[in-house]
Amino acid sequence: MTKASEAKAAKSVASDLSVEDVYRSVMDAIVDQRLLPGTRLNELAMCEAFKISRREMERVFARLAFEAMVRLVPNRGAFVASPDANEARAIFAARKTIEAGVVELAAARASGADFKVLAKNIAEEETHRRAGRMREAIKLSGQFHLLLSEIAGNAILGDQVRQLVARTSLVTSLYENASEMGCWHDDHHKLIEHLRAHQPKKAVDLMRRHLDGLEESLDLDRKISSKTNLRAIFGLDTLELASKNKV
Ligand SMILES: [Zn+2]
Repeated sequence: MTKASEAKAAKSVASDLSVEDVYRSVMDAIVDQRLLPGTRLNELAMCEAFKISRREMERVFARLAFEAMVRLVPNRGAFVASPDANEARAIFAARKTIEAGVVELAAARASGADFKVLAKNIAEEETHRRAGRMREAIKLSGQFHLLLSEIAGNAILGDQVRQLVARTSLVTSLYENASEMGCWHDDHHKLIEHLRAHQPKKAVDLMRRHLDGLEESLDLDRKISSKTNLRAIFGLDTLELASKNKV
């Protein structure tokens, strides 16, 4: 392709969306479990849907692959990552180490305004949970951990928590044990109490137990089907992607 035709092609697909916007959109769809682990991400269909160039879409995929949310397979394309049981255990082990540090820092720094934000997160999560909107509730319970990392005030730890919470959503969607999911969010209330009392040791112990509880609630020995479940994708855009995928 010549420089001129390349520029023309780029212009014809120009949209208001930046690479960052598309990255966020795809990341949200994965974290919200609208795009399930193993789903093939049809590059051309996604370029059309987002009205961005292939080069820009490749940048989105490269970033998601770097963050282990997407797997790039030579000659086959991009797929939503599908962590195996060993990787799932490693994710929880990393979260325990990193979030113990986060909650220790947060216990030393948390102020009145922070407690308001945390309490609002819990109240909203409970509202969604009671209304049976589990996807929203689970997303908010992940955000609770991100809020703690913001209070801790260390951006590097914050980035690690953001990536690990996102990867946890892949793990929960693969290994969720319906009969076990439930009241572990009560721990969030207790964590706030320890932070209010500036008791870092109690907060650290509870965070470790909390993440242990989440890991134990999953069925990590379950055999995962290698077939991509395209039918289980939700949302108009993604349904369109799935149907184009079959051609
Ligand atoms: Zn939690």
